[in-house]
Amino acid sequence: MADISPDTELIERVAEWIRGAQHVVVMTGAGISTEAGIPDFRGPQGIWTKNPGAERTATLQYYLSDREVRVRAWRNRLESPMWHAEPNAGHYALVELEKKGKLETLITQNVDGLHQKAGSSPERVIEIHGTVHEYMCMGCGDRGPIEVVLERVRAGEEDPPCRKCGGILKTATISFGQNLDPDVLERSYRAAQRADLFMAIGTSLVVYPAAYLPGMALENGARLVIINAEPTPYDDHAHAVLRGRIGEVLPAIVERV
Ligand code: NAD
Repeated sequence: MADISPDTELIERVAEWIRGAQHVVVMTGAGISTEAGIPDFRGPQGIWTKNPGAERTATLQYYLSDREVRVRAWRNRLESPMWHAEPNAGHYALVELEKKGKLETLITQNVDGLHQKAGSSPERVIEIHGTVHEYMCMGCGDRGPIEVVLERVRAGEEDPPCRKCGGILKTATISFGQNLDPDVLERSYRAAQRADLFMAIGTSLVVYPAAYLPGMALENGARLVIINAEPTPYDDHAHAVLRGRIGEVLPAIVERV
């Protein structure tokens, strides 16, 4: 088991690994955005920890088959903290890492767009679970800015249908039970396989296929660094586990790179 206390020595060691690495790949999860006021799913203050029933609105099968689930989902979306959230120290640290020439690819499971808002280059960011900033029609695949649909919900449409085909609209995110975009998945697999240092930050590493990525990097000889407040299934395989607050640990590492 790797050292888990995020003390200065471990932080220095990880910074040194980053300095020596050629292909640094980072994967982030909901934990990097909790300090921006967006709850995660499975942390102590997580949406599902507090309300296990909320999982239904994020499950494709229920969303497609039950109008009530969609009505609730649109109402929740109107009130989502994601629209006004600002990036935090963790997001900015990754921008800094990129500026130092040490971030090849940033794979995120997050759908909040905060990496790009912080200034990470969009071409380096892979949003494997999509984005809440766009809508998508489940019938004809039409896409556009989410604000267009939110405006219709505010105006009284509880479950606005697609204007092109009458189909069901949803945020352009991957729900549970929904396949990931194969091209996007392929890009993230390639990035993980190229990595010589892979950092998993703020993710419980239990959502697949995203959770395969650290394993793929390890198989290809990469060092694995985990920064997360709680244990993950990969902790025993990681070269370093830093169990602290991302907003403190990550900037401390990056400033030493
Ligand atoms: P998760 O909820 O399963 O796990 C988040 C992890 O982050 C937890 O283990 C928690 O202990 C840790 N954490 C929370 N705040 C932290 C902090 N400040 N410092 C250190 N660790 C912290 O999230 P996941 O692994 O990303 O998987 C859940 C799915 O939820 C993903 O598919 C993601 O798309 C989606 N999601 C996204 C957002 C978002 O876009 N911000 C929010 C909620 C859920």
